[in-house]
Amino acid sequence: MTADPLTGGVGCVHWRTSRDIVAIRFHCCGRAYPCLHCHDEAEDHGIVPWPRELFDTGEAVLCRRCGHWMTVSAYLDSGSSCPACAAAFNPGCSLHAHLYFDIGVG
Ligand SMILES: [Zn+2]
Ligand SMILES: [Zn+2]
Ligand SMILES: [Zn+2]
Repeated sequence: MTADPLTGGVGCVHWRTSRDIVAIRFHCCGRAYPCLHCHDEAEDHGIVPWPRELFDTGEAVLCRRCGHWMTVSAYLDSGSSCPACAAAFNPGCSLHAHLYFDIGVG
């Protein structure tokens, strides 16, 4: 339970593919988790999505493979691969992006 979820390996207890290599720093608490379920199990508050006005300034998403932090915009524009090391991200994550970022889906 003390293992740092952001270092080593891929995925988390919820997502276990070789492409699940990002972690998101949540706007609500400033802590980074591999997925929203990890956040919810560790925190007792609801997720607050990143506000749109911070998309270009906040370091919101971490590539756990190379340690590169990127803004929300950089992540959303990355085409599901790391801008720094070109590792492929799980494209399925984009299905949940509205839970992390205020991208106005729906
Ligand atoms: Zn939080
Ligand atoms: Zn998780
Ligand atoms: Zn990378």
